[in-house]
Amino acid sequence: MNSFAARLLAWFDLYGRRDLPWQHPRTLYRVWISEVMLQQTQVRTVVPYFERFVARFPDLAALADASIDEVLALWSGLGYYSRARNLHRAAQLCRQRGELPDRFEHLLALPGIGRSTAGAILSQSLGRRHAILDGNVRRVLTRFHCLDGDPRSSENDTRLWSLAEELMPNERLADYTQAIMDLGATVCTRTAPACGGCPVRDDCKAYQRGLVSKYPMPRARRERPLRTRAFLWMSDAQQRVALAKRPAVGIWGGLFAFPDGDSIADVCHALRVEIPDGDADVTMRHEFTHFSLDMQVWCVRVECNAVEDHGLSWFTLEDALSLGLPQPVRRMIEDRL
Ligand code: SF4
Repeated sequence: MNSFAARLLAWFDLYGRRDLPWQHPRTLYRVWISEVMLQQTQVRTVVPYFERFVARFPDLAALADASIDEVLALWSGLGYYSRARNLHRAAQLCRQRGELPDRFEHLLALPGIGRSTAGAILSQSLGRRHAILDGNVRRVLTRFHCLDGDPRSSENDTRLWSLAEELMPNERLADYTQAIMDLGATVCTRTAPACGGCPVRDDCKAYQRGLVSKYPMPRARRERPLRTRAFLWMSDAQQRVALAKRPAVGIWGGLFAFPDGDSIADVCHALRVEIPDGDADVTMRHEFTHFSLDMQVWCVRVECNAVEDHGLSWFTLEDALSLGLPQPVRRMIEDRL
């Protein structure tokens, strides 16, 4: 075994995370769910979501047979909802087989599974020799080798994949995969890495040269455009709220939210309700990967209950919280309770 892997595994035996819920039992299905949840979210946040998700959908068939609304409701608050839609779609594609495929190429062909996720699933659940390159591993290897330039450039991407493959041992692959993820998440952190406790510091070029803070080098920044959208919170005499299920494609696809439009006049005109006077009652900014959204929310009381004609349904605030809701909508409803 190479010395990087040997030292990392020895460190893992002492300090690694070995009590994560998807490790007991570490099946293809459970590791897949956890890896998709972890794609843009930290372990601490994922754990309760994972536990609720697998309690309700203990296997692939249960997930495939569920409605997308139920899946999105359990995902609500985790963000990046295309992950939930892809999980559901992939489960349906594999429904007949009853389990995920255990071949790398077949896994890669499923929606929402990229090269690193496929590698993590197979190495962790079956101990196969596949490298991973998530954000944490990318940072560790970039520092370990003092890799100059944008760490996401295609040249560095190729370099990092081949380094990740070279450093892998031939045994204890599940532990090794967890170990390198843990090292990035808990020691070689984005800010203030704890190099003094790092098992590979003797060979780490950035550490040896005193250049840790220089790596990874910053990516070329792209301006994130700002969009504004008007939302209408309608309540009736029983304090219920009118929500619409959003189209499957587009932001917050398949989730329930307040009706929205380019302007409050547009929204009210479409719903045939009086345009409220004055500015929005609530303005909040929500960040998406490619743009920022200023949500301007007007709150009105309506007497006419015929919102169903416009694709809306009334929900008590408690019932609304059991739906799949975008995070800012959930937060607003929780604040009202
Ligand atoms: S020595 Fe520091 S910079 Fe190098 S891999 Fe370890 S924690 Fe990261």
